[in-house]
Amino acid sequence: MTTGAPTLIRPGPSARAQELKAFAFGCGVQSVAVLALTAMGELDFDVFLFANVGEDSENPATLSYLHQHAMPFAAAHGIELRELHRTRRDGSIETLYDRLMREGSRSIPIPVRMSNGAPGTRSCTVDFKIKVTGRELKRRGASARCPATLGIGISVDEIHRANNRRSEPYEQIVYPLLELGIRRTDCARIIQSVGLPVPPPSSCWFCPHHRPETWAAMRRTQPAQFRQACQLENTINARRTAMNSDPVWLTRFNGPLDQVIPLTPVLPSTDDRADDPAGDRDDDGRCDSGWCFT
Ligand code: SF4
Repeated sequence: MTTGAPTLIRPGPSARAQELKAFAFGCGVQSVAVLALTAMGELDFDVFLFANVGEDSENPATLSYLHQHAMPFAAAHGIELRELHRTRRDGSIETLYDRLMREGSRSIPIPVRMSNGAPGTRSCTVDFKIKVTGRELKRRGASARCPATLGIGISVDEIHRANNRRSEPYEQIVYPLLELGIRRTDCARIIQSVGLPVPPPSSCWFCPHHRPETWAAMRRTQPAQFRQACQLENTINARRTAMNSDPVWLTRFNGPLDQVIPLTPVLPSTDDRADDPAGDRDDDGRCDSGWCFT
């Protein structure tokens, strides 16, 4: 598994002897591979932190995997895997779906698509993953003077997603799968080698970065979830109409989800998608820094 893959950040050992070594656990294939490698003694993280953006927001299959497989596996190997939530001042949990559906809300926190297919700016990853994880790192003693090491699960085939500029003062980002030269296909093999099933894709069920194939599969196999996504798109656009703003969409096809994702879709080929004028490689091309879809 060790190859000549790039080493992006490797803090010096003497300055960081007391540091916390945490991993931002997305519960996707890369994150679970890092968990497996830690159980095998190949990697060394003190704690795995899963920032749950909401029971009503995460892919339900991801949450099932977390509770049925990842958490029991971590516990059996003496590894701490902690689930985190975004909390309001009164202690209640705020979910991303709550925020999207909030009456009178003017901003859209997710990367909805404009008429040209390009994703808009988003605050979801920062507010529901980066800040939530950062609060836990600081609670455990991380600071600008003594930053925590924070692992992100980007594999060699997705190296374009590694983004060192995004680290906060209390953390130093490392990419253990890049350091070990591990590809996404290796991850599945590593996961199965420790007796775990390969996890489903991890993301919000309404994420505008989903591939068309993902939406089509949702329409076929989870029609209630697909209808809920259509309703979400309608709710957002009803608000925008009231503000005299142009509509936005959950896909890059400049139209309502239930019209652009037919039951028997004719989908663009992989080559067509690579030539997308929006420059978007679909499910993860713009979801940079590896906090989602890992
Ligand atoms: S999966 Fe998509 S919608 Fe969910 S937090 Fe990440 S970018 Fe935002």
